[in-house]
Amino acid sequence: MVGAGIVGLACARAAAMRGLRVVVIDRDAQANGASVRNFGFVTVTGQERGASWRRARRTCAIWQEIAPEAGIPILQRGLWLTVRRPQALPVLDAFLRTEMGEGCELLSRAQARARCARVVGENVQAVLHSDHEVRVESRQALPLIADWLVKKFGVVFQRSTTVLGVEPPLVETSRGTLHAAAVAVCPGDDLGSLFAERIARYGVTRCKLQMMRLAAPGFDMPGTLMSDLGLLRYAGYATPEAQDLQAVIAAEQPEHLRHGVHLIVAQSADGTLVVGDSHHYAPTPDPFGEECVDALILEEFAAATGCPPPPVLQRWTGTYASAAGRTMFIDAPRPDVRIAIVTSGSGASTGFAVGEEVVQELFGATSL
Ligand SMILES: Cc1cc2nc3c(=O)[nH]c(=O)nc-3n(C[C@H](O)[C@H](O)[C@H](O)COP(=O)(O)OP(=O)(O)OC[C@H]3O[C@@H](n4cnc5c(N)ncnc54)[C@H](O)[C@@H]3O)c2cc1C
Repeated sequence: MVGAGIVGLACARAAAMRGLRVVVIDRDAQANGASVRNFGFVTVTGQERGASWRRARRTCAIWQEIAPEAGIPILQRGLWLTVRRPQALPVLDAFLRTEMGEGCELLSRAQARARCARVVGENVQAVLHSDHEVRVESRQALPLIADWLVKKFGVVFQRSTTVLGVEPPLVETSRGTLHAAAVAVCPGDDLGSLFAERIARYGVTRCKLQMMRLAAPGFDMPGTLMSDLGLLRYAGYATPEAQDLQAVIAAEQPEHLRHGVHLIVAQSADGTLVVGDSHHYAPTPDPFGEECVDALILEEFAAATGCPPPPVLQRWTGTYASAAGRTMFIDAPRPDVRIAIVTSGSGASTGFAVGEEVVQELFGATSL
C-alpha cells in the first residue's frame, strides 16, 4: 500500500484480513495528511444516496468493529443537525421519506430543547437527529489503527519512505526496491507523484479547509452538530426541495456560501470542540487561514447553538482531493495496481468500504 492515510490503512486491513502479507509505505514519519486533520466524523446521514451512502454504512460498521480491538474511543454517537429556516423543513421531510431516513428522526424545537437545551439557538426550528454516526479523534485513531494492523496481522510499515515508481513486482522507493504482487496507491491529494496522467483523467483538484479547536463549553454535546448550511453541502439532502433553501441562504449568508462555509462541531474527550469548516479549491491551495473565514464559521456556531463561541485554542488548515460530481474513484493503470482516491472529503466515512473494494478488485472474491 502506498500511503498510510485512512484509505491506505483501509486497504491494508482488507488485504491483511485475507491473509495477505502487507507492507504500507508512507513518505512521512507519521500520518500528517487529511486523515489526521479532519473532524473524525464518520458521517452516514447526508452522504450521497446510493453507493456513497452504502459505503458509509459499511465503513461505520467497520469503525465500530475495530474500535474496541484497537483501543480507539468512540467519543460521540449520532448527528444533531439544527435548522433555522422554514425552507429546511421540506428538505428534511423529503430526506426522511427515503430509505436513508431509517434511524433518523425530526425533533421539534421543544423536543430538541428537552434533550439538550444548551445547543438549540434562539431561531432553531427543528433538529434532524440521526443515530448512525460515530466520532473518533483522528490524530489518535490513525496511529492506533496502524498499531492494531501490526499486532494483529503483522502488517509492516515503512515510514519516511517515498514511493518513486510502481511496476509490480517492483516498487521503487527512496530507500530501495521492494517486491509486491499487487499495489494499492492511496496518495490522498498528492496528484502529481505517481500515475499523474491517470489521476488527471478524473478532473481532480484540491480543496483547502480551515479548522479550529475551541475551549470546552462546559457541557456535553448531544452528538456531532451541523446546521442548515450542511443541507446544501451534503449530496444526500439534494432534492428539488433544497432549491428554496439555497435561495434563502444565498440571500442571507452570501459570504458563507462564497467561502464554502458550513458548520460541523465535534466534541473531544476533554470537552474541547473541533469546529469548521470552509472550502477553497485550487490545484495548489495557499497554506494561509483567513481570519474573516474563521469569523464566518464562529458566527454560524453562535447562530446554530445559541452559545457564544468559546476561545479558539488551535487553528489549522487541511487539504483533500476533490472532483466535481465524483465522490471517489478506483483506477486500474495495470491489472496488478489500483489507485484509490476519495474525492469528496469523506474518506473517514467511506474509506474502509473503499479499501474492501480495492482488494476485491486486485485479488478477487477469495485470497490468493
Ligand atoms: C480539514 C478536513 C476535515 C475533514 N473532515 C472529515 C470528516 O469529518 N469525515 C470524513 O469522512 N472525512 C473528512 N475529511 C476528508 C478525509 O479526511 C479524507 O477524505 C481522507 O483523510 C483521505 O484519506 P487518504 O488516505 O486518501 O489521504 P491522506 O490522509 O492525505 O493520506 C495520504 C498519504 O499518502 C502518502 N503519500 C502520498 N504519495 C506518496 C508517495 N509517493 N510515497 C509515499 N507516501 C505517499 C502521504 O504522505 C499521506 O500520508 C476531512 C478532510 C479535511 C482536510
